[in-house]
Amino acid sequence: MKEECPLCGAESELHCVPYEIPFFGEIMIFTTVCASCGFRATEVMVLSEEKRGRCEMVVSSAEDVNAIVVRSSSGTIEIPELGVSVEPKSGEAFISTVEGVLKRVENVVKMLSKDGKSKKRADEVLKQIEEIKSGKASMTLIIDDPTGNSAIIPDKLFFEKEIITE
Ligand SMILES: [Zn+2]
Repeated sequence: MKEECPLCGAESELHCVPYEIPFFGEIMIFTTVCASCGFRATEVMVLSEEKRGRCEMVVSSAEDVNAIVVRSSSGTIEIPELGVSVEPKSGEAFISTVEGVLKRVENVVKMLSKDGKSKKRADEVLKQIEEIKSGKASMTLIIDDPTGNSAIIPDKLFFEKEIITE
């Protein structure tokens, strides 16, 4: 499908790819790629009846970090135990795992810690993340999404992970 690039106005390519998630249902992934300026945007839409405005999962074991996280561009991610929240941004939907979300948080915290004042707090958060990943500490992952297009899907044994976008 063709559409106009929101950045440069050139004709860009819109791809829609449906995915079936076992024990959950179908989701649709929309990717816009502009060959002229390099603009890229991803959106996701939940097609199953599992649409929820608020998803919550307690992550308390090393297996829990393998749960699938579908975050639409309207979803706000919150991890109260880490004092972290990730604001929604248009075109920045993703499908990842809890571990992938923690990786993003780590990267942001590492960047912030370069400014000396917040270094101590940053080191604490990084240590907490390590403990969560190894199952020694727990956290609550919350996604607030008024459109209902975000989801947290607990890992199942034979889960195929080919849907992960990053
Ligand atoms: Zn463009």
